[in-house]
Amino acid sequence: MNPEEILRHEETLDPENWEETRALGHRMVDDMITYLQTVRARPVWRAIPQSVKTHLQQPLPLAPQGAEQAYQDFVEHVLPYPHGNIHPRYWGFVNGTGSALGALSEMLAATMNPNVGGADHSAIYVEQQVLDWCKAMLDFPQTASGLLVSGGSMANLLGLAVARNAKAGFDIRKEGVTAATGMMTIYCSTETHSSVQKAVELMGLGSKALRKIAVDKNYRIDFAQLEKTIVEDRAAGHLPFCVLGNAGTVNTGAIDPLAQLAELCGREKLWFHVDGAFGALAYLAPEMRRHLSGMEAADSLAFDLHKWMYMPYEAGCVLIKDRAAHENAFTLVPEYLVQHERGLSGGPLWLANYGIQLSRGFRALKVWLLLKEHGVDKYRRLIQQNIAQARYLAQLVEQSTVLELVAPVALNVVCFRFKPKNVAEEKLNEVNRQILMELQERGIASPTSTILHGAYALRAAITNHRSRKEDFETLVAETMRLGAEMLRKVA
Ligand SMILES: *Cc1c(COP(=O)(O)O)cnc(C)c1O
Repeated sequence: MNPEEILRHEETLDPENWEETRALGHRMVDDMITYLQTVRARPVWRAIPQSVKTHLQQPLPLAPQGAEQAYQDFVEHVLPYPHGNIHPRYWGFVNGTGSALGALSEMLAATMNPNVGGADHSAIYVEQQVLDWCKAMLDFPQTASGLLVSGGSMANLLGLAVARNAKAGFDIRKEGVTAATGMMTIYCSTETHSSVQKAVELMGLGSKALRKIAVDKNYRIDFAQLEKTIVEDRAAGHLPFCVLGNAGTVNTGAIDPLAQLAELCGREKLWFHVDGAFGALAYLAPEMRRHLSGMEAADSLAFDLHKWMYMPYEAGCVLIKDRAAHENAFTLVPEYLVQHERGLSGGPLWLANYGIQLSRGFRALKVWLLLKEHGVDKYRRLIQQNIAQARYLAQLVEQSTVLELVAPVALNVVCFRFKPKNVAEEKLNEVNRQILMELQERGIASPTSTILHGAYALRAAITNHRSRKEDFETLVAETMRLGAEMLRKVA
């Protein structure tokens, strides 16, 4: 077609028949609500048949298949094989559970489809509102700045990048890290999440600069060792600039002595960053507050809303006390983004200047809607419920003669294993590995695993608002039953 013909036959992605689309949309909503309503009746996980995997390797569609057919394909080949994290007996990795309004809110956000990088439109104000609510929730000052991000990994990266720039003592954006007169070092425990090392590597500091300090028997950073390492590093000509505290480690849910770390950072003029991916939210539970004391003193705090606030992926948040330092780290305004005093090109603040993404989705909407739907008190109760469930699971494990806890339960993470008497250590690891795969493959439950001091452990991280007491009873009963079965199988 030549340009004239093209213009005579202008097209759009809008439906030809809006009523058909409306009907399909209604069906999708019905199907999805039913899917959520009946989740308990399905297996937690099921293996994807080869036929389905093959079906998901088709060539690029050139001709239209139509919305109806595309949806059908989703229902047959995608929907039946989920990760499982919305199921009541899912406690793997650290994954949130989602909710009905959470799902619907994604549709609302995608319908408006704003770019929340900047300009003057409602989504910007919604995100600011949500950030203010997050600050209020975690007792951060309202003057702090922040940003909704994809998750804890990005929140850690942004927090640490601001720390690096603020503490460098020279214009690191211009000169680069190679202009530092020594190695810029950052301190955290060996139990720190891998996203932190990735961030440090990406920031050009080198993983050597991430000083991983040993932990005590409760998997908390060894404070004396930390102090000693900082002194030694200074003596060696390195440039310590940041300490990272964990509010809930991924392995065991351990909480570093945050108040002590905050005091140390104040004394040593170091940036204090807290990775509270899921654990920060335990601040909502009154009985946990004293354990998290010091978190409110952090210069930057990273946490997720898609973990222990049960919101749909992706939603994380970083809060930064020093707004100017935050802006200095990321503000860059090219000609095409210059802010005007009126019109769409105006606006209160360009969120793109608080992170590295320019185009940004409307993830603030689900947070706004869900906080309004339930109120924070409901989240507070659910978090307390998950902590109580973790204690109950730990209690069931301790009552069993063939199970044992592999780590203390500080929060909502329970690490345990099948360990009948007179079985060799080497064999135990393989037996427990088999138990895990059987629990998952049979669709019974989905904990995941970790290795603690060489011991393979089944690990349940409870950030699930659908779990009930009896689900943990099932986990324990099935682990013991499969344990006996696997013990016979593993030579
Ligand atoms: C999950 C997790 C992260 C990473 O967060 P994402 O949302 O997965 O990017 C960082 N730290 C801890 C302690 C975590 O549990």
